Amino acid sequence: HAKSQGKASYCVFDPHMDDEARERFELERALRQAIQTGEIVPHYQPILHLETHEVVAVEALARWQTKDGCSLSPARFIPVAEETGLILPLGAALLRQACSDMARWRAELPQSRLHINVNVSERQFHDPEFVRMVTSTLEQTGLPATALTLELTESILLQDTDTCLSKLQELDSLGVRLALDDFGTGYSSLSYLSRLPVHALKVDRSFVSALTSTDLKARAQSEEIVRAIIALARALQLEVTAEGIEQQSQYQRLCALGADHGQGYLFTPPLPATALTRFLAQKTALPRLRAA
Ligand code: C2E
Ligand code: MG
Ligand code: MG
Ligand code: MG
Repeated sequence: HAKSQGKASYCVFDPHMDDEARERFELERALRQAIQTGEIVPHYQPILHLETHEVVAVEALARWQTKDGCSLSPARFIPVAEETGLILPLGAALLRQACSDMARWRAELPQSRLHINVNVSERQFHDPEFVRMVTSTLEQTGLPATALTLELTESILLQDTDTCLSKLQELDSLGVRLALDDFGTGYSSLSYLSRLPVHALKVDRSFVSALTSTDLKARAQSEEIVRAIIALARALQLEVTAEGIEQQSQYQRLCALGADHGQGYLFTPPLPATALTRFLAQKTALPRLRAA
C-alpha cells in the first residue's frame, strides 16, 4: 500500500509514533542513512521544444525509493534536508550524478547538445562553497558548464542581494545557465530581473493548469499572466519553459502564446536514468501532438 505521497509514505516509520518532533527526528535519521547508501537518485523529465518536439534538456528530480518499497516525495524530504543541512551532501551527490549521467548521454546519444537542469534550494545556494562545488563537479564529470542549467526560485534571489549577485555572475562567467523556477508565484521585481544573469523563466504549473480551468475567469487570468511572462521574457531575451503540461489543449495554448519549451505528463513523467536513455534513443517515442 506504499504510495508516493500522504500518510502511506510513513510506512518506514513506527506507525504508532504520533509525536511530530520524534517523527521528524526519524525522518532525519532515515534521510541521513539514505544519503549515505545512495537511496536517493535523480529521475529525469525531458523538456521539449514545443514546435519541433525535440528534447532540448532534461530536469533532474530527486526520488527516494526505500528498500521496503516506500517512495517519498521530494516535496516532503527536500524541506527536511534543507532544515537539517543535509541538503548540502544530498544536493552535491545529486548534482554529481546528474552531471555524470548527462556527460554520458551527450557522448553516447545523437543528442550531443542536450542540457541538464538541476534544482538548487536556498540553503545550497547560500552555502559559501556552492560555486566551488559546482565547478569541481563539472571538472570531475567532464560536463561542459554550458550544458548545465541551475534552477533557482525567485525567493532565493531576494536575500543578501550583493553576495547573491556576485555568485550568479561567477556562475554566469563559467558558462552555467540559470533558470527561475516556479516563475510568477514569488515576488518578481522587474528591476532585479533585468540586472540578474538569468537565461530562462519557468512558468509555474499552476498557471499552465489554469489555462484549461472550467472557471472561465481563472482561465482568462492565467492566459494573461502567461502572456505577460512571455512578453517579459522576450523583452529581456530569456527563454520560456512551461511546466506541468498535462493536456493537449494546454500544449496548444502555450504554443499559440509563444512559449519556447515545455515539460509535463503529456510528454512523459520523470523517468529513471535507464528509461530516459531508451526514451532518448527512440525518436518515435513522443506522443502525436497536434500543432496549435
Ligand atoms: P519543481 O522543480 O518545480 O519540479 C517540477 C515538479 O512538477 C516535479 O515534482 C515534477 O515531477 C512535477 N511535474 C512534472 N510534470 C508534471 C505534470 O504534468 N503534472 C504534475 N502534476 N506535476 C508535474 P517533484 O519531482 O515531486 O518535485 C517537487 C519539487 O521538489 C520540485 O519542484 C523542486 O522544487 C523540488 N526538488 C525535486 N528534486 C530536487 C532536487 O534534486 N534538489 C532540490 N533542491 N529540490 C528538488
Ligand atoms: Mg525545477
Ligand atoms: Mg518548477
Ligand atoms: Mg513547481
